[in-house]
Amino acid sequence: MVLADLGQKITSALRYLSNAIVINEDVLNSMLKEVCAALLEADVNIKLVKRLRENVKSAIVLEEIPPGLNKKKMIQCAVFKELVQLVDPGVNAWNPTKRKNNVIMFVGLQGSGKTTTCSKMAYFYKRKGWKTCLICADTYRAGAFDQLKQNATKARIPFYGSYTEVDPVVIAAEGVERFKSENFEIIIVDTSGRHKQDESLFEEMLQVSNAVQPDNIVYVMDASIGQACESQAKAFKDKVDVASVIVTKLDGHAKGGGALSAVAATKSPIIFIGTGEHIDDFEPFKPQAFIKKLLGMGDIEGLVDKCKELKLDVNILTHGPSTIRNMYEAFEMLIESSSIPQVSQMIPNFDSKGNDPEIAMKKYMTIMDSMSDQELDDKTGSKLFNKEPNRIQRVARGAGVATSAVQELLTKYSQFVKHADKFKCLNKGRIDMNQLARLMDPRFLHQIGGMGVLQSMMKRNVKGMK
Ligand code: GDP
Ligand code: MG
Repeated sequence: MVLADLGQKITSALRYLSNAIVINEDVLNSMLKEVCAALLEADVNIKLVKRLRENVKSAIVLEEIPPGLNKKKMIQCAVFKELVQLVDPGVNAWNPTKRKNNVIMFVGLQGSGKTTTCSKMAYFYKRKGWKTCLICADTYRAGAFDQLKQNATKARIPFYGSYTEVDPVVIAAEGVERFKSENFEIIIVDTSGRHKQDESLFEEMLQVSNAVQPDNIVYVMDASIGQACESQAKAFKDKVDVASVIVTKLDGHAKGGGALSAVAATKSPIIFIGTGEHIDDFEPFKPQAFIKKLLGMGDIEGLVDKCKELKLDVNILTHGPSTIRNMYEAFEMLIESSSIPQVSQMIPNFDSKGNDPEIAMKKYMTIMDSMSDQELDDKTGSKLFNKEPNRIQRVARGAGVATSAVQELLTKYSQFVKHADKFKCLNKGRIDMNQLARLMDPRFLHQIGGMGVLQSMMKRNVKGMK
């Protein structure tokens, strides 16, 4: 896999940092130079590379890092964060809805991998228990229907197509109608492409789209064109309502990094990536997981986990926990670092029924798993649920618990936010350091560099607030 080369080069740059005895401006610059060279080689746009470099430089001001904090770790995390940023379109990807007909139409140039990817996606959802099917609305390419039929038969997926009908609009409309009447949940329509983005391709695309009224139009793009795909993605988006992108052939091309970052730069949500010709060579695309895997190939031990802890520490210290997601992350960290007794002390009557707090936390986490991003990130937390009580019912159903359990979680959350005030007043320097140190898990305190660092962090935060 060619992208592995990129991962390896970046990890080796990060490792160079780990091996350095002193961390100074020169070491930081050399490391950044190596990372940037690797990205440019992978065809990442020079402007994006420059931004990455500048962002890391402004996040890391060496002389301002208090003694005791791990500079190497902070730099590595800053690089990691920027790499994620590079491939993160920053928009939520489309997701199909269960027990509903979800019509998905594929568009893209000929040879980009539409037919292959349609089958991969159908297979992906089929394995997850969705009722899926395929429709071949490509009457342009000879053998198109046979190709789809072969893939579908192999994967045991129902399909629709015609050897005699020449109008793709008719086939698409008939196929969708039939599968809708049979209650299929994922109905995928494969269309034809042309070599170039010519007008007749766009015209046909529009007609099929009008006929089947897709819930999601997926634009399939071949990674081999690298950053050039930015303009191609834009051209398609201008013509039809492209809701998501799948980047294919990331296995074979040195320009994969360029393709992904260029698509992300157009703010198009990338939903999956294709990494081979086989039906299984297909992965949901999540920016953070992708970068983690990319770097994991070169194996920087525990880097990502460390970054996660660091993020949470800094977040809670500077803002105080406020959303339900903050509570989720805090539970996650507490369970991982087995410092649950601390939180039970901090939140009185953590579990009123006297259950093991860890079991209670896990139960709450299952409930939170059924919440939407909006609910998790809402700043008013339980008010949103009180205003729209059907949310409580939906979450309860999703988590397989009674509505009273969801209500209990929301009460817990209110207590958690009250507790957040303790953290917030730290920032204003109103709390005694020793009292704070007692509130914290000793490991947590050690991890951020001990009392001295805590004090200087407080000072900085107080300064920042003035
Ligand atoms: P379409 O014209 O857009 O329908 O493209 P096809 O699905 O027919 O694919 C064109 C070629 O690309 C075929 O040889 C596929 O096997 C190949 N292909 C598709 N996706 C991938 C991928 O992710 N990796 C690799 N290596 N080849 C792919
Ligand atoms: Mg095709």
